[in-house]
Amino acid sequence: MVEKCSFCGNIQSKEIKLLANPADNAWICQNCIKGAYNLIYGEESESHQSQNSEHVDFKDITPKELKAYLDKYVIGQDRAKKIFSVGVYNHYKRIFKSALQDDDTELFKSNILLIGPTGSGKTLLAQTLAKYLDVPIAICDATSLTEAGYVGEDVENILTRLVQAADGDVERAQKGIVFIDEIDKIARMSENRSITRDVSGEGVQQALLKIIEGSVVNIPPKGGRKHPNQDFIQIDTSNILFVCGGAFDGLEQILKRKVGDKVVGFFDEAKESNSKNFEKVEPDDLVHFGLIPELIGRLHIIATLDELDEKDMVRILTEPKNAIIKQYQKLFAIDEVNLKFEDDALEAIAKLALERKTGARGLRSIIEEMMVDLMFELPEYKHYDIIITKEVVLNESKALFVKQNKKEAK
Ligand code: ADP
Repeated sequence: MVEKCSFCGNIQSKEIKLLANPADNAWICQNCIKGAYNLIYGEESESHQSQNSEHVDFKDITPKELKAYLDKYVIGQDRAKKIFSVGVYNHYKRIFKSALQDDDTELFKSNILLIGPTGSGKTLLAQTLAKYLDVPIAICDATSLTEAGYVGEDVENILTRLVQAADGDVERAQKGIVFIDEIDKIARMSENRSITRDVSGEGVQQALLKIIEGSVVNIPPKGGRKHPNQDFIQIDTSNILFVCGGAFDGLEQILKRKVGDKVVGFFDEAKESNSKNFEKVEPDDLVHFGLIPELIGRLHIIATLDELDEKDMVRILTEPKNAIIKQYQKLFAIDEVNLKFEDDALEAIAKLALERKTGARGLRSIIEEMMVDLMFELPEYKHYDIIITKEVVLNESKALFVKQNKKEAK
């Protein structure tokens, strides 16, 4: 008799463990246990059927489905979300579907390069789809990698982190996502930016290239499961999706120089958005910027993200499923306090965040600073509405407190 989950029909395999009640011939798989746990203890379970990788049938996912999920969390960046969804879809299709075809055409590994200003959602894109697909993700910063000679260790540590994110499960880690931020910061200086060639960045790029193109790497097991007879773990990177991100400051100049002379008005920065401008990026421009051609050759898919404007910022505050305002409202509601933000308060927060030039990253810190005093006194305001006005944001007055039902100002 085949041992299969009595709830979803999953068959026992190396990846899927079943818990049995042999007396009744009943079984439950790890995915359904997790789903039941989430149902009782958390909200994470939302569509467990489609969120769990071992259960998400990777064979059934579609780029549209991935994009629709991104839409719930990532504001704007429509084109980038589309390109990213297709990239991720193709990656997992290559892993899970290509084996089903019996020709011997080998599909190349495609990794993704995201170009966009800081705080525009590059990391968020990768994190969101990793969550949806329930694959582990390791996020690291290219600038933290050391110079040639020492790189081996460091670059391998990225993989150690991925194994840790997979709770020591090497199989899972091998299908995970690695997000490498600030890839532009390890560009070697091109001839246009410095007379002397900076080779240290190139050394780090070479080391990254090795793992990005797909190879078997020995990694120190720090934090991973202990292997009694070995002091390293072997990890095959050929099915790991690498996503690199960077702002690429200065790339516009390279593009401008390339086409500016030929086409008048092509680079009207006031009118053209970032992504419109960067859509014209070609591998050669990135080589010119200082990335080595071999590395660019491994980052086939390039998506560009726009700088967020005030309207986007307001939407980010309120619209995503886990929007920061929604989170605070929930936190206040637990104390039976209604937290309300007036529209111009939201606009004022967005303006302050824009001034900080850290993209949407600034929003959280602005709100957190503002909320500390309110949170401190929160339990005293049970059954009140607390209204945040523009003046509160600008630190010109205190929040309004209105007793619920009676609606009397306090
Ligand atoms: P970066 O582009 O520098 O990788 P992140 O993706 O880390 O930026 O963004 C930082 C934070 O700002 C995110 O965690 C998220 O809360 C918010 N954020 C940034 N861009 C967006 C966006 N387009 N939609 C929704 N939230 C965003």
